[in-house]
Amino acid sequence: MTSVTIQVEQLLRTPRPRTGETATAAGGVCDPKLADGPWALDAVPGAPLPMPEYGPGSSNADVAPASTPVQQQIPAEYRRTPVPELEARIRAARATLGDRLVILGHYYQRDEVVQFADFVGDSFQLAQQSTTRTDAEFVVFCGVHFMAETADLLASPGQSVILPNLAAGCSMADMADIDSVSACWDQLTALYGTEPDEQGRVPVIPVTYMNSSAALKAFCGDRGGIVCTSSNAAAVLEWAFQRGQRVLFFPDQHLGRNTAKAMGVGLDEMPLWDPRKPLGGNDSQALTDARVVLWRGWCSVHQRFTPEQIAGARAANPDVRVIVHPECPVEVVDAADEAGSTQYIKRAVETAPPGTAFAIGTEINMVRRLAEQHPEHTITCLDPVICPCSTMYRIHPAYLAWVLESLVRGEVVNQVRVPADVADSARTALQRMLAVRP
Ligand code: SF4
Repeated sequence: MTSVTIQVEQLLRTPRPRTGETATAAGGVCDPKLADGPWALDAVPGAPLPMPEYGPGSSNADVAPASTPVQQQIPAEYRRTPVPELEARIRAARATLGDRLVILGHYYQRDEVVQFADFVGDSFQLAQQSTTRTDAEFVVFCGVHFMAETADLLASPGQSVILPNLAAGCSMADMADIDSVSACWDQLTALYGTEPDEQGRVPVIPVTYMNSSAALKAFCGDRGGIVCTSSNAAAVLEWAFQRGQRVLFFPDQHLGRNTAKAMGVGLDEMPLWDPRKPLGGNDSQALTDARVVLWRGWCSVHQRFTPEQIAGARAANPDVRVIVHPECPVEVVDAADEAGSTQYIKRAVETAPPGTAFAIGTEINMVRRLAEQHPEHTITCLDPVICPCSTMYRIHPAYLAWVLESLVRGEVVNQVRVPADVADSARTALQRMLAVRP
């Protein structure tokens, strides 16, 4: 086990340190509350609703909108049961449900949950995997809210998609909501007009990252736009540039900037749209000259990585191979050896010659798992501070046990359903993406 592995194991499997104590990890942890159960953040029946917050971890300082879903407190017996006992109950419920159930686990989930997943992958791989199990009545998605929505959009009739903790959202996805994106669109179309140019390209095409609500996917579906993932963002932007003079890219500025820059778009052709300001804080000329208008959103997990961390990793080992996720800031991607999606990072590790040293810039649970699965390499996280995704953290074995035992009793809890009035348009945007070939 790497030192990172040991630190996270200690952090997530031991009780919270007493007041005044801190975890003993080499770089520390970003919040000692990570050792608490996430139910401390849930709504208590009869009590005033808690202030919306993402909880401990990387998004802790992000502003959670009032619309952030709330999880009602699960029965006390689940909260009090030790993890090994919960694991035994999950196994038993899973055996009882058999083929009626499929469990999906995102790479960024904790091991205590991922061990039960029938499929482990990134958000889109998982949504696609769920379509291969049309026999399963219940799709339990151990990821975050937008992923469960996507699985519901692609689900077969009669399938129920369940998110074990409804408060497992995504702070990046929450940074673009349908009202502020619609307001942006109105301002841009007022500025650009709606007439195509001589090549038939419309003034602007909306592109949303998979990490967005179904309402925003539907927004794109209705306006000739499309969805992208971190694996296919370049091919999708190419598709959009064939049809539009410009792209409005949301919610992650970094994925949009890094991808377009690699395609030759200048940084001065990518103004940032701040939804709190008129014209997004830009003058109309900058927007007219834009190739990509970037929404002011970010992932707090990936925004923690810095060029200084890369310099430190290289000082420690000049041969280290630095790979970062394209949700990292552009100066981090520029300083790294490679940038790619979670799937890209996984493949790079799997195909490297034994003895390779990696410094990886992505979520700690994934880096830790790669280090465990590949003892032939030396794998460390670029960030010395242990700081997992706050919203993935909200899924704990207690919630998984609760949803599965409810299903055994015939009760479907925490079902995520995309409203019918947005589902068709959202599917249109997803289908356009599926038709794009890199
Ligand atoms: S890692 Fe970032 S983008 Fe992914 S769910 Fe967490 S906050 Fe959202």
